[in-house]
Order: sequence, then C-alpha cells, then structure tokens
Amino acid sequence: MWLYFTLFIIIILAMLWLFQTVFLEMGYQGMKTRDIKKVANTIISAINEPDYAQILNRTAYDNNMCINIIDAATSSSIYSIDIMAGSCAIHGADSLPDLYLFRRQIMESSTGIIYLRAQNAKLNTPTLLFGMLVGTKENPAGFIFLNTSIAPLNSTIAILQEQMLYLTIAILAVELVISFYMAKYIARPIVKITKSAEVLAEGKYNITFDGSGYDEAERLAATLNFASEEISKVDSLRRDLIANISHDLRTPLTMVKAYAEMVRDLSGDNPVKRAEHVNVIIDESNRLAALVNDILDLSKIESNTAGDLNRTEFGISEKLLQILERYRLLSEQQGYTFNLELDEEVIISADVIKMEQVLYNLINNAVNYTGEDKIVTIRQKNSAGSVRIEISDTGAGIAPEKLPLIFDRYYRTEKSQREVIGTGLGLSIVKAILKSHNYPFGVQSAEGKGSTFWVEIRR
Ligand code: ADP
Repeated sequence: MWLYFTLFIIIILAMLWLFQTVFLEMGYQGMKTRDIKKVANTIISAINEPDYAQILNRTAYDNNMCINIIDAATSSSIYSIDIMAGSCAIHGADSLPDLYLFRRQIMESSTGIIYLRAQNAKLNTPTLLFGMLVGTKENPAGFIFLNTSIAPLNSTIAILQEQMLYLTIAILAVELVISFYMAKYIARPIVKITKSAEVLAEGKYNITFDGSGYDEAERLAATLNFASEEISKVDSLRRDLIANISHDLRTPLTMVKAYAEMVRDLSGDNPVKRAEHVNVIIDESNRLAALVNDILDLSKIESNTAGDLNRTEFGISEKLLQILERYRLLSEQQGYTFNLELDEEVIISADVIKMEQVLYNLINNAVNYTGEDKIVTIRQKNSAGSVRIEISDTGAGIAPEKLPLIFDRYYRTEKSQREVIGTGLGLSIVKAILKSHNYPFGVQSAEGKGSTFWVEIRR
C-alpha cells in the first residue's frame, strides 16, 4: 500500500516537473508564434483603413512588437514602429542587409511566411522574427516584418525548479506520513483479518476477527465473526450428528445382530420364539431404514435436489382422516387416543407427499412425547386466508429457551435423547418443507402441560 501510494505521488511529481520545465519553454514559444500571427492578421485587415497608422501603433504597443512594412517596388518603409527604442532587429540602417536576406527567404519559402529565432545583437536577447509577403510572388506588393523579443526563460525555469524541489520534498514527507497512517488504518486490520482467516481455515472455529480501524474493516470482521460462529455451529452439529447417528445406528444393529445370533443358536427350531426374534430383527431394520431415510430426505430437501414443489390440489380434511387411519393400529394396540377436530373441507394446493411428511413427523413427535394419558389432538381451523392445522400433545412440553432450537438439525433435548429414539432430524425436515411452501409454522408449549405445533396452509 505504501509502495503504491509512493509510486502514485512520484508519477504526479514527475509529470509536474516535466510540464514546469521542459514543456514551459515549448509552450511559451508556441504562444509567441500565435501572437505574431494574430498581429500579422490585424495588420493585413487594417492596412487599407484610413487610420491604419493608429491601429498599428496600438497593436504594436499592446503586443510589445516592432512592425516594419516595406513596399516591394521601392524597398522603402511604408510604416514602421520601433517600440524598443532603436534596438529592433528590423529597424535602422544596420538591419537592412538582414531585411534583404529575409525578403529573399520569404520569396523562396512555399507559404510566403517565415519565422526566425535570432539573437538580437543590440540587446543580446533572443528574439522572434516574422516575415510575410503581401500580394503574390509574381507580383509582390510588400512585406510585413514583425519582431518581438522572447524573454529568456532560464531564470524563470530555475526559480520553478527550486520551488519544485521544495515542493517535492514537502509532498514526499506528507505522503510518507499519510501513507503510514493509511497503511495502519486500512491495511493492518485487513492483514490481521487475513491471519485470523488462515487460522479459521485450519479448523479452529473459535477465532475472533479484529477489524478495528475503520468502518469497512470492522464490518468485514463482524461478518467473518458471524460466519465463523455459524461454521462452528455446523461443525458441532456435524460432530453431534456423527455421535447421534452412530449411536442410533449401533443400537438397532446390536439388536439385529443379537437376535440373529439367538435365532441361529437357540430359537431356530422353536417356531414361536423364532417368530418373536425375527420380528424384533424386522422392527429394528425398519428403524434403521427410517433413520437413513430421514438423513437422505433432509439432505435432499436442503440441497434442493428433490426439485421444485410438485403441487397438486387435494382436500386437507380428507388427507388428515387418511393419515389418522394409519395410526389406528397404534391406538388399538397401545392405547393412544387420537382426537380429530375437523373444520369444513378445504381444497389446498401443495406438494402432497411433502405435506404428508410434515404431518407424519408432527404426529409422530406428539405420539412420542405425549403424556401418560396418551392423548394426541389434531385440529383443523379454517380462516379467510388459510387453514390452520394444530397438533397437540399432553406431554412434558418444551422449555421456552429450547423452543427456538428444536427446528435445528440434530437438535434433541437431553430428556428425549434417552427416552425416545429419534434422529433429531424430523423437525428440520418439517421446517425445510414448510419454508419451501412459504407456510408460516410454529409451536406453543407449556412445560408440564404439552405442546401444540401449528402450520398455516395458504388457501
Ligand atoms: P426427534 O427425532 O428427536 O424427535 P425432532 O427434530 O422431531 O427430532 O425434534 C427435535 C426435538 O424437539 C426433540 O428431540 C424433542 O426434544 C423436541 N420435541 C419435538 N416435538 C416435541 C413434542 N411434541 N413435545 C416435546 N418435545 C418435542
């Protein structure tokens, strides 16, 4: 940063030097030449005026120029003004040979105009001479001569150079100070952030980013801190997942293995025992399959490879009845009570398979977590814009501080980790599906009384 800034300043200074010294001389001469041409044009347009002498006098003084107009036939001066008090190169007897020479040069030149830079012998200063033919080369009427001294620029340039030297030193000094602070305030926080990012890349997620210095760096640091927090969350989730899944996989696998061994060694010949043991194996395999399905479902929904929603129209009341039908066995065999409070039938447009998944997940949770009375209530409440589905249980409820977490992947409350076998993925699948439908959803829970999960399906 310091280097670039210094380079930038040096380039600007170099350009200043170049223009102030080298180009100054060229510019000055160019200006003088333009002046002379202008005066020549004024003379040509004034020469036929009755008061031309007056106009010419004024032009000569205004432009600090000597004028000499010579008749071609007589070679005598028609008009002459010497503003340098006898020192002009185009006046006086001693300039006559030069004037002849100029006349010849004008006649020989293609344009009939000559510019000459010469040293004025009388004043010992550089002068600019201008000669112009009036009329045509075959029939010349006269010649206009102009002479102006060009002030020597050397002293001016010397002064400028000295000033430039001081200026250069001053600018470089200021530049050094400014770039030092700029480096400190801009580059340093970025260097620090970069170092922290390298640490983060090595997998140490608890790093904090320090961007103190200026606003943008601070914001960058805040964003990175947020990112590293999120990454560390994902990382701990991943670790939890591996722990969860390996635990969850191991339990049914152990059972499958144990019962398979029992069938081989003990119950193979006893049909009743064998059937019992094989059933355990089937149940455990089903649980394994369900677990693997959950993991696949979630990763599909989240990476959106499941594709867009496949919306169809179906009646929500009918769907709820259909789903509850499948829980009938559970209520008959294990004493669960399912209360279904339906409203009027409403045809909704949604992805039917995914919405079934949502309802199954919520009802399964209610079954798993409901209280001793084993009651699960499912309600349909129609309103103008939506159909609200509520699934309530009478279980222990969820602590308020846990409520925001339960929809997170792999999140399971401590209690449920031991008591109920689940993957911690159910609600995150629910969340992913409802989000993709853009349906509001949530949970109300009172500890000790139970929880109500709700979703509002847009009509
Ligand atoms: P799990 O497979 O553990 O049920 P979920 O994602 O479905 O995973 O739920 C996450 C956590 O939310 C559960 O572990 C449980 O602690 C809590 N939870 C979900 N539903 C209920 C409910 N109806 N009552 C109480 N707690 C619940």
